[in-house]
Amino acid sequence: MSTLSQKQLDKRISLRDSFNRRIDYLRISITDRCNLKCIYCMPKKRIQNFKGSEILTSEEIVRFVRIAHENGLRKVRITGGEPLMRKDIFSLIASIKQTGIRDLSLTSNGIMLSKHAGELKKAGLDRVNISLDTMVAEKYKAITNGGDINRVWESIEEVERVGLSPVKINVVPINGLNNEEIASFASLTFNKNYHIRFIEFMPVGCNEIWKKDRCISAKEVMHIIATLGTLERLKFRGQGPSRNFRIKGAQGVIGIISPLSDHFCNFCNRLRLTSDGKIRPCLFSGVEIDIKTPMRNGASDYEIERLFCHSVKIKPLRHLLSEDVTSSRSLMAMSQIGG
Ligand code: SAM
Ligand code: SF4
Ligand code: SF4
Repeated sequence: MSTLSQKQLDKRISLRDSFNRRIDYLRISITDRCNLKCIYCMPKKRIQNFKGSEILTSEEIVRFVRIAHENGLRKVRITGGEPLMRKDIFSLIASIKQTGIRDLSLTSNGIMLSKHAGELKKAGLDRVNISLDTMVAEKYKAITNGGDINRVWESIEEVERVGLSPVKINVVPINGLNNEEIASFASLTFNKNYHIRFIEFMPVGCNEIWKKDRCISAKEVMHIIATLGTLERLKFRGQGPSRNFRIKGAQGVIGIISPLSDHFCNFCNRLRLTSDGKIRPCLFSGVEIDIKTPMRNGASDYEIERLFCHSVKIKPLRHLLSEDVTSSRSLMAMSQIGG
């Protein structure tokens, strides 16, 4: 009797939206709490965190992932807020992995990661992204409202040591903040196999510091990086919206993510699940589908599956930020949606 390979199985159960995009990636915000307060992510005025009972439990998250996996989900990223603020993170990672998810990653600010990297790896985590927007200690403190950059460097080393690799570093270049460090970040790839990912600054939620002239487009980033050497285009399969390059002779990779200047919506493969249990088909749309209430009211797996499939079907073709940048202003902060 012939058995189907994982590839054939994935193909059989792939779920497509109304624009024929295959949707197989879920970003889950497991908490809206954070131990930092980055100026480009959280509004100055205190935002009201969800109450503990409003946040999805581990069991609810895992149940949803299991159902989504049965409908073609292959890739999960755990984010927040700061995901390591959640005490049940290790068992959550292990249970998500047990559903059969092949690619399980996590985005963290790196403040608490050095202590937990080994245990996360043991639980089944495949990779991490660490956010770091400056290499200057004082500036880091200012951007994050008090963070200690040494802890982030320790985490980067530890993550590498335990084999949660390749180490990916997320940088949001912002004019007047860290624009003069773009070349230094890219230069880290000369001697280390780091993936440095430059992400355009997005006008999400009540972000007071977002202004068009503070954004540095992917094109400008490329221009700066090109001064360091010849850029070779790399082609990775299934690596999301990042356009990847290597400076000739360098070990690491530079990724350019341009949600604004050159949006990649045509290739979008993702949904988000907010920490309070709403599926968000598109980052830049306020449309959400509640799965927590039905789950807590005793919905069957079939009913949850219908909600998942519905969220895929109503996914919009693209965001409208190039037409109307204010269209995202009514949304929650990035820390609440899950970046
Ligand atoms: N706390 C974790 C961290 O900082 O890595 C995970 C959550 S954070 C919201 C996820 C990613 O969103 C980070 O890499 C952060 O730099 C990015 N981010 C936050 N606000 C952003 C914005 N306005 N534009 C672009 N990226 C943003
Ligand atoms: Fe910074 Fe991440 Fe916290 Fe936002 S969620 S304030 S990006 S550490
Ligand atoms: Fe996908 Fe919406 Fe982001 Fe476009 S804006 S890439 S459709 S989530």
